Amino acid sequence: MRAVRQRATEAERALAEELRRRRRVFETNVSLEGIGRRRMDFVFRRARLVVLVDGCFWHVCPIHASWPKSNAAWWREKLEANRRRDRDTDAKLAQAGWSVVRIWEHEAAVEAVDRVVEALQRPRDERPT
Ligand SMILES: [Zn+2]
Repeated sequence: MRAVRQRATEAERALAEELRRRRRVFETNVSLEGIGRRRMDFVFRRARLVVLVDGCFWHVCPIHASWPKSNAAWWREKLEANRRRDRDTDAKLAQAGWSVVRIWEHEAAVEAVDRVVEALQRPRDERPT
C-alpha cells in the first residue's frame, strides 16, 4: 500500500506548487483542535477553509475504488470505516465553522486549485457545509 500513499503525497505536492504559483498563503499538515486525528492537508486560516486530499484507494474514489478480493470482509469494513470517518471529519469541521474542499488524488492540480480558489472567494455564509 506504500505506492498508494506515495501517490497521494505527490498529489499534495502538486497542489502546494500550484497554490504557491497563484500566490496563495496556506499551512500544510495541520492538526485542528476537536477535529480528530486526521491532519488537515491544507489550511487557509483567514478564510477558515480546509482542503483535504483523499487517496483514491483508501477513501474509495468513485472512479478508482477497488475492493480487494482476499480478506474481502475485512477490507470492506476497513474502507467503509474510512468513509464514515471522512463524513465525521466533515461534520466536525462544519460544526467548528470550517468549510471543506475535498480533492481526489487523481484530480489535476490546476483544476483542483480552481475549486479551492473558488471556495476561497465565496463569501462564507454562501458556502455549502
Ligand atoms: Zn480516483
